Amino acid sequence: MSARILVVDDVPANVKLLEARLSAEYFDVMTASNGTEALAISRRAECDIILLDVMMPDMDGFEVCRRLKSDPATHHIPVVMVTALDSPADRNRGLEAGADDFLTKPVSDVVLIARVRSLTRLKMMTDELRMRAITSLEIGMQAPERSAVADTGKGGRILLVDDRESSYQRLATILAAEHTIDVEPNPTEALFHAAEGNYDLLIVSLDLNNFDGLRLCSQARSLERTRHVPILAIADPENSTRLLRGLEIGVNDYLLRPIDKTELLARARTQIRRRRYTDHLRDNVQNSIEMAITDALTGLHNRRYMESHLATLAEQAATRGKPLALMILDIDYFKSINDNYGHDAGDDVLREFAVRVRKSIRGIDLACRYGGEEFVIVMPETDLHVAGMVAERLRRSIAGEPFAIHKGSKRIEVTISIGLTTLEQKGEAVADVLKRADTALYRAKHDGRNRVVSQAA
Ligand code: GH3
Ligand code: MG
Ligand code: MG
Repeated sequence: MSARILVVDDVPANVKLLEARLSAEYFDVMTASNGTEALAISRRAECDIILLDVMMPDMDGFEVCRRLKSDPATHHIPVVMVTALDSPADRNRGLEAGADDFLTKPVSDVVLIARVRSLTRLKMMTDELRMRAITSLEIGMQAPERSAVADTGKGGRILLVDDRESSYQRLATILAAEHTIDVEPNPTEALFHAAEGNYDLLIVSLDLNNFDGLRLCSQARSLERTRHVPILAIADPENSTRLLRGLEIGVNDYLLRPIDKTELLARARTQIRRRRYTDHLRDNVQNSIEMAITDALTGLHNRRYMESHLATLAEQAATRGKPLALMILDIDYFKSINDNYGHDAGDDVLREFAVRVRKSIRGIDLACRYGGEEFVIVMPETDLHVAGMVAERLRRSIAGEPFAIHKGSKRIEVTISIGLTTLEQKGEAVADVLKRADTALYRAKHDGRNRVVSQAA
């Protein structure tokens, strides 16, 4: 698949040059000659990368970048600033605007193509994650972009830390019009309160009596449960140097007294919106990662994860000179469970089976659903003898206790067959280990099922 690249430059000759070089590498190129046009195109078309000139009349590249990065429709597109300026200050401006990379004019062919290629890969990865996020949308999660656009920023939970009664009463009254607000006049209690309360925003006065508000901000930043909660600082104008320090240690925004009501509400809404958006994204990423490696029915790892991880485990075992055991488990006559009791009953059995497997293995063992009713367990630092005992215990845990189906109204006997082997010689391909375990499993089936067959390497 060829990536689509948007080239933005006000000098036609520069556009032509980049377009020619990129087209020669079979990239699909679109062009724009100013910021407004670039924003319109990137919103409309699916571009994978934007090459953005910095110096342009009307709207400069920094501003275009800022807008791209603040628009949910475009903020995930990598932006490369193409610039004749190359001072650290310019880079900082670009980074602040959200740029992903820089190219210095005159742009060398090699560098250009290398950057574009690597960003294309990055973009494809993001697209994959976003696609998975769409899958999570189908299973009931909201798309973060969509809810971010719709979010008013109201209805947040705010903790206000302020020990001046006249001040906190006024602020709380203003904020209560749009949010749920708790006041904590005792700064020594504030961190605990913040960690317990699941807040969307902390508002912290920096003019506390005998207490350093900045210390509280910095503690909130380092505490796991408050790390991602935005902080809005409030200070008297003569305290403005401390505000700058606050921004360095992670205060998100600030207000100077006397506090303007409209401004307070606007800044609170902005912080709350951002907080909700990043939370959504984080959840989605977490979900995407879990979905990518987990089997949905049983919650065990999936085959893809096992196959990639098994190679690593095998390598570790070889370099450390430790054994590695692997077993394949297959439910006996599973098809007839489906046939006799229905597919849902079959699913119940698979779920309960996974529960029992998890109980029988150690944390460092890797259990995965290999196929329909076939499972693989990999056990590091385990020899054939010990693995045989684990397998036997597992077999008994299945055969010894009937499985509940039909919401617990019926119980049926289930048995499994297990093929077991170990990887002992260095450099053996994991595919060969799997094959040997599978052969052992076949023998277990052939010999009458409900049994463990071990096959030494
Ligand atoms: P054997 O003792 O030789 O292993 O016989 P078996 O019936 O267990 O083996 P076979 O491979 O013939 O049948 C496996 C069945 O598992 C067929 C398939 O419909 C069923 N199956 C696969 N995945 C699922 C699933 O997710 N849920 C349910 N309920 N059934 C599944
Ligand atoms: Mg089976
Ligand atoms: Mg089977």
